[in-house]
Amino acid sequence: MGDAQLKPCPFCGGPAEWKSGGPGCAWISCKQCPAETGDGSIQRVKDAWNRRADIAALQSQARESALEALSAYGQAQDAYAAQLKAEAKLRDAIVEGMRIATLAPIEMVTEAIEDALRKLTGATP
Ligand SMILES: [Zn+2]
Repeated sequence: MGDAQLKPCPFCGGPAEWKSGGPGCAWISCKQCPAETGDGSIQRVKDAWNRRADIAALQSQARESALEALSAYGQAQDAYAAQLKAEAKLRDAIVEGMRIATLAPIEMVTEAIEDALRKLTGATP
């Protein structure tokens, strides 16, 4: 059996050769290292030996995954910034409520707190 159609060993780059254990039992082995296929039909064994990972596709997938992760990180940062902003508004509302509470009757305090909460949640009365 000729070795012309066999690619070099995917591990060491060495030349490949056919091995046979009898009729219907063939596999491909590297001449330089222990790499070898399982046995099977000539075509299956040859396809198995000659199959290579598509490096460009893997790199493209890795790039896509990295961009997705970066985008998710950006969204998380935006969400965190929004949370900090909401907390600052809440602090301001509490401080304002306490300031009014020291000056005004309870109805005005309640109204001020409700007003602050409306502003905070964006709800209309
Ligand atoms: Zn090898």
